[in-house]
Amino acid sequence: MLKVLISEGQGERFSVQTSAEKFFKDFFSDEENFVGNIKVEGEFVKDGSSLIIRGKIFCRKVFLCDRCLAKTQEDQVHEFDEEIDKFQLTSDVLDISELVRDVLVAAQPIQNLCKPDCKGLCPNCGKPLEGECTCNKRN
Ligand SMILES: [Zn+2]
Ligand SMILES: [Zn+2]
Repeated sequence: MLKVLISEGQGERFSVQTSAEKFFKDFFSDEENFVGNIKVEGEFVKDGSSLIIRGKIFCRKVFLCDRCLAKTQEDQVHEFDEEIDKFQLTSDVLDISELVRDVLVAAQPIQNLCKPDCKGLCPNCGKPLEGECTCNKRN
């Protein structure tokens, strides 16, 4: 759970983190997952009847490349900027778990690639074209 204490002040900064494993339990698969900690740094600003919360989410994703199946690790940073109706706040603690989950899920690409121009696997030997495959390198 990621919770932020909304104090009386203006423009207060916050920094919270939680274990990615617990946070995304049953959500991602063995081929695609977040590891380590999900860290959120940001600030909130009160504006009339709304509360604006914005900041950055830091996370580390581990996945198998869709083309060459290489295990890949990627550090990601995602920005968010949300306006929350103050009347939705029932206490001075705001649970931003759903917000963070939504931002992270929406930010994931349709294809997971180890690099944008990954050449994939060799149709001849089945090994990564840019790695173990030696089919064309012998000539
Ligand atoms: Zn790849
Ligand atoms: Zn090959």
